[in-house]
Amino acid sequence: MRTFVATEAFEPAHPKMLALYCSDGRFTNSVEELLHELGHRRVDTVTLPGGPALFNVWLAGFSESDAIQRGTSFLVEGHRIERVALFAHAGCGFYKARMPNQPPERIREQQVTDLRSAGVFLRQRHSSLRVTLYYAVADKTVSFHEVSPHAG
Ligand SMILES: [Zn+2]
Repeated sequence: MRTFVATEAFEPAHPKMLALYCSDGRFTNSVEELLHELGHRRVDTVTLPGGPALFNVWLAGFSESDAIQRGTSFLVEGHRIERVALFAHAGCGFYKARMPNQPPERIREQQVTDLRSAGVFLRQRHSSLRVTLYYAVADKTVSFHEVSPHAG
């Protein structure tokens, strides 16, 4: 059996930042790049298809929504997470599948609503948590637009 030894030193302390985003690997490196730029060299992650969409029980269904709520809260409490970054992205396959025949603008609207709702949920459950919302758009590179926590 072959063994691979990573060069990165293992740090026993848990990161204070959790990033929650869609599994879509076309965005993963860019999400990590943004987080590094913001000073978070290491992060806990929750990645599932749709990411923050799963907090929307009507869109995701009870079991998927329950799973992400429990998983996220487990990390926040168990690892003493202080900050959470939530990411939605343009062209998300999860939304295309759950909202067939909807135009991209309507889907984008729903994604922003879902980001805000997920933020509200997390801040209500964990009062000292700082939550930041991002909407990612891909062209030749990926741009991240910060979404305000409240509409209007
Ligand atoms: Zn996606």
